[in-house]
Amino acid sequence: MTFAQAEGLHAHANAVALRLEKLDQLSANEPSTADLDRIEVTLALARPEFADFKGYSSARMESRDQRAGNCESRQERKGNHESKGKPQDALSSSVEANTPVYLNANESPYPAYQGDQNALNRYPEPQPQALAERLASLYQVNSDQLLMGRGSDELIDLLTRAFCRPKQDAVLIMPPTFGMYKVCAEIQGARVLEAPLCANSGFSIDFPAARGALSQGVKLVYVCTPNNPTGALADPAALLEFIRFARGRAVVVVDEAYQDFCDEPGFASKLSELSNLVILRTLSKGYALAGARMGVALAHPQLIALLRKLMAPYPVPKPVSQAVLEGLSNLDEKRAQIAQLKQQRAWLALQLGELPGLIVFPSNANFLVFTAPESRKLYQALVEQQIIVRDVSHYLNLPGGLRVSVGLPAENLRFLNALRALLGK
Ligand code: PMP
Repeated sequence: MTFAQAEGLHAHANAVALRLEKLDQLSANEPSTADLDRIEVTLALARPEFADFKGYSSARMESRDQRAGNCESRQERKGNHESKGKPQDALSSSVEANTPVYLNANESPYPAYQGDQNALNRYPEPQPQALAERLASLYQVNSDQLLMGRGSDELIDLLTRAFCRPKQDAVLIMPPTFGMYKVCAEIQGARVLEAPLCANSGFSIDFPAARGALSQGVKLVYVCTPNNPTGALADPAALLEFIRFARGRAVVVVDEAYQDFCDEPGFASKLSELSNLVILRTLSKGYALAGARMGVALAHPQLIALLRKLMAPYPVPKPVSQAVLEGLSNLDEKRAQIAQLKQQRAWLALQLGELPGLIVFPSNANFLVFTAPESRKLYQALVEQQIIVRDVSHYLNLPGGLRVSVGLPAENLRFLNALRALLGK
């Protein structure tokens, strides 16, 4: 500006002044490093239309008494002795003055069937408190940092809807990885950017590429660790640094579906310091409850509250809560099963490694991935013997890839013997 003024080039000086002014404005709007830790900064990444969105208010949410799980069918309260769930008993029974009558949710007052222990005629709690507390203690978080959904699949969908505007915002995935991240983004109309894993260095994460992608409208970054289908674990220190770098730019979803089989600690302990971190856990793997459909998102309570607003009103059916609580009642047994699966994984990896042409990748999950010549033929031949593995040869950088879940020792042996025979060993 000084030079321009000296030369009488006032328009040039003015142009510089205007630019400086604009820069000042920009930096004033940019959060400081301390601010980046604030949840408001992370929530500002969500779709702006959800800032004041209230979501649906269900009868169960509005009724405090029912929220505490006190609602049962009248017959259950009476002990089910004489009434046995017959409608006329309910009709003729008197209503005790000191117990609430629930006439707010258009439910049937009759139990669904005889011995309806779960009182299925009533809607469940939207997020059953007893189960939330059990899971919070399992994952070492507070119950308000946790959201239960129909598998982590549903939570991936919710996250996409919360953060990605169609045709505008993007998710970043690291292929080869779990397919639902991309599918949910495509359903939502979000863009999908890729930072492929480094195939020649054990499928490690390409953090420089991931950082670079963050300037391209990425709102969600999916880091699957241990990764499906490679079984590789992300470098924890590098991942932590990346999540810090992403603050104010994107939410990092660390999918720990296979964490139960991994010796490194997960990221749950980092939640209190990183507002842009979401962790996904599932009961479908180590806890043997895939049929119950129970997945969990762990995050800052306000981010959890945002996701809840977008969720269908009653995502946790009563039989599911009950099955999960029962499934978690004997953790020692589960831990022993996990230990056995890990031991079988090590054994199977060794045996597969000895077969001609097979390359087996180290795995921190309850499966192994290997590449084999003519993998498609091998896959078909196994199917003919009713041994079903997963063909992952179409995944990026996994030509000839097959993925086998670790089963019972006898199942693993049957698979191995069939493979040995097919490969002439
Ligand atoms: N994440 C990963 C990495 C998975 O492999 C899977 C299931 N295959 C899921 C999430 C979904 O799990 P859930 O059963 O909880 O929906």
